[in-house]
Amino acid sequence: MAIDNEKELFLGLGTNTGEREKNMTEAIERLSLRFGIPIAQSEVIESEAWGYDSPNKYLNGVILFRTSLPPTEILNITEEIERELGRKQKTLNGNYCDRPIDIDILFYGNECIDTPRLTIPHRLLHKRLFVLEPLARIAPQFIHPILEKSIGQLLDELREAQEE
Ligand code: ADP
Ligand code: MG
Repeated sequence: MAIDNEKELFLGLGTNTGEREKNMTEAIERLSLRFGIPIAQSEVIESEAWGYDSPNKYLNGVILFRTSLPPTEILNITEEIERELGRKQKTLNGNYCDRPIDIDILFYGNECIDTPRLTIPHRLLHKRLFVLEPLARIAPQFIHPILEKSIGQLLDELREAQEE
């Protein structure tokens, strides 16, 4: 196994339908079967739906693996697990909807990728408290490779902007 190629893979998880704790645990188990034992895992937080109205609150968390799998293969795996856990719809043109599980690729080492299917770092992570808060618990010093700021800094800035 080519350990030198291994990169830090940060995944963001969200669930707002069905048995949310169970969806979270099940997703983490399935991810671990594919990516190995997690290096770190945040606590789970509860948040309001973001970008659309829904009475169903989310549970959100962030998990860190190390892997040498290529990013498209990682997305194939995360989408497969979303489907296995009952996700039916994808977000189209920013029209969000309730879902049993959403798995987003937040960072893959400091690689920057921008293709129609995949943008890494995730293009909205710095605008979302429900991502930055759990991320800051496990990797406050991690530097966003495009914004060139640490997670801790991005979190402070977003909190300040939201207070204004
Ligand atoms: P959202 O997470 O924004 O609600 P979806 O999970 O339905 O939306 O994903 C919509 C599309 O976003 C997917 O088809 C996928 O190809 C694309 N995508 C682009 N970048 C990423 C990323 N970093 N992580 C996960 N999906 C991504
Ligand atoms: Mg997603």
